[in-house]
Amino acid sequence: MTYEIYIHVPFCLRRCGYCDFNTYTAVDLGAGASRGNYANMVIREMKLTKQWQLNHGIKEPPASTVFFGGGTPTILSADDLVSTLNAIRETWGIASNAEITTEANPDTVNEYYINRLAEGGFTRVSFGMQSAVPHVLKTLDRTHTPANVAAGVEAANKAGLRSSVDLIYGAPGESLDDWRTSVKTAIDLGVNHISAYALTVEPTTKMGRQIASGTLPKPNDDDEAAKYEIADELFTASGLQWYEVSNWAKPGYESQHNLGYWRNVDWVGLGPGAHSHYNARPSFDALRAWDIAHPRLWGTAINENRIPWGGSEEITPTENLEELIMLGLRIREGFDLKRINNAIAAMGEQPTEAGDGTRLKPIDVAQLQPMVEEGLITIVSDDDGHSRVVPTRKGRLLNDAVIEQFFDLAGI
Ligand code: SF4
Repeated sequence: MTYEIYIHVPFCLRRCGYCDFNTYTAVDLGAGASRGNYANMVIREMKLTKQWQLNHGIKEPPASTVFFGGGTPTILSADDLVSTLNAIRETWGIASNAEITTEANPDTVNEYYINRLAEGGFTRVSFGMQSAVPHVLKTLDRTHTPANVAAGVEAANKAGLRSSVDLIYGAPGESLDDWRTSVKTAIDLGVNHISAYALTVEPTTKMGRQIASGTLPKPNDDDEAAKYEIADELFTASGLQWYEVSNWAKPGYESQHNLGYWRNVDWVGLGPGAHSHYNARPSFDALRAWDIAHPRLWGTAINENRIPWGGSEEITPTENLEELIMLGLRIREGFDLKRINNAIAAMGEQPTEAGDGTRLKPIDVAQLQPMVEEGLITIVSDDDGHSRVVPTRKGRLLNDAVIEQFFDLAGI
């Protein structure tokens, strides 16, 4: 059993125009959820979570990964991040080879800060780079300059930390050449891991409103697909291999935390709006839970010694099967067809969620031939002789359509 911990830090220096994450620019959000007191609140949430686990007969192994995300985790002091990590160690333990990452805004860290993280047990920093092109950064409302990213990566290298950078493609006004520049600049930093995400524009954001009113052009699917191909080609040529739809790494440098999500392991999310996931145990079905999103209400629950969940729900066997297929189709290791078929067999004659009388059916390799011929997937044989389904680049680009076809075959 693998156990991962995610800490959400809901503070940012300013709100970027495209962002709809659960994050705030105010220093104090009430009920103890202030920047200065945030680590204490998360540590209190840890104790409440551990108690909940004990009450439900859940004993987790030491954490194999810890990830601080946001928001901007590095808005907190390095000492706060380290004391939060120490509290995780006391509460659950941390595996000796654990991957411990924080996201970092290049503007909020310096060499001293990074060294403090390294001394405190962090192993990895993920820098928000977004773009290397000033006009694109401006459209994204990002304040950092590309030079800050390079300085951050250099400080991380010196301190012996692995580093990663995040890029975003598809910003209004970004040309293919702009994107090539960003990709090449990221590669030239010499990092061993890069994430590249398509910009998603939510209508409620400033950018969403600018696009709706015609002030900014609308992102275009063909442009995003072309940019994905550029990224995949250039990253691959530089020795970074894709391992998840939006993530590339040198072999051995894949983010274990990311992979854990796609492998559907147990994880606990702490902080406003963070999600947790527990696999099925003898006494209960798989479970997902989410923290109260508003920091003040979240803090109020903690002050009342309640686990600060906004809600939770059991994951039905059919939903679990859907997740196994969806998550597997995002990663290079793909999914084991036998595992899917075993899950289907275990569900027996159970009707599907739709309640329309259809039955789930095992998937035969022969049924997958049309998708293989269309170049969407490949079938590979793993060490156990099992057939694994792996998406191709085209399959990654058409991920939703491939997932749909699998659902149809399984009768979901
Ligand atoms: S720094 Fe990141 S989390 Fe914060 S507002 Fe900008 S995009 Fe959102």
